[in-house]
Amino acid sequence: MAVYHCSLCRRTSFTGRRHLYSASHRRRLQEALGRLEEEVAAARAAMDGAAVRRYDPAEHERRVWCLCCGRGVRRDGRSGALALPHAGLLQHLAGAEHRRETARFWRENRADAALRERFVVAAEEYARFVAALEKAVGAHEEREEENIRQMAARIREAERRQRDTVRAALEVGAAELSRIQRCCAEHRERRGWDGDGGGRRAALSTRNLVAFS
Ligand SMILES: [Zn+2]
Ligand SMILES: [Zn+2]
Repeated sequence: MAVYHCSLCRRTSFTGRRHLYSASHRRRLQEALGRLEEEVAAARAAMDGAAVRRYDPAEHERRVWCLCCGRGVRRDGRSGALALPHAGLLQHLAGAEHRRETARFWRENRADAALRERFVVAAEEYARFVAALEKAVGAHEEREEENIRQMAARIREAERRQRDTVRAALEVGAAELSRIQRCCAEHRERRGWDGDGGGRRAALSTRNLVAFS
């Protein structure tokens, strides 16, 4: 009997390819396909919404193990600062390499042929998803631009109000200053005295004016 190495079970079997029909291999195959099927189902569900999110490396750099191709695949896509959830995995599932490797894996592991189509995504389906995704990215960018426009308008309005407040304060300060100056001049005239009391008060008022602005 030929020796057979099963990469799925990671063991060498001395019953040859009969191992593929054994209960332990069937169970392991079912478990492994179940894990991949969950990821594929989540990706398919995301195809309807085609949503985008802010990119977060902790969340969006996750990889999914593709059993058929024997390698990790990035689950999410990325466009600048945006994450495209499940777009990486969907692109992989719709690719020619994955379709070929899935056929090989099914053949080699004697998997149920009826289940195979669940693990691949049709090219037309993927193309529709990409078109919806492009629209979602465009809509998000428009929203961002609108937010920036509104923020800029708010800043301009706050600056205008601040300028008005300063101008009003300066006007009050200037009126006060001229009142004090008039008052000092009257006192000087009345007393015939040119002391520095009025000057000190005026200087004090100028300091207030600086503190105001
Ligand atoms: Zn096996
Ligand atoms: Zn694959």
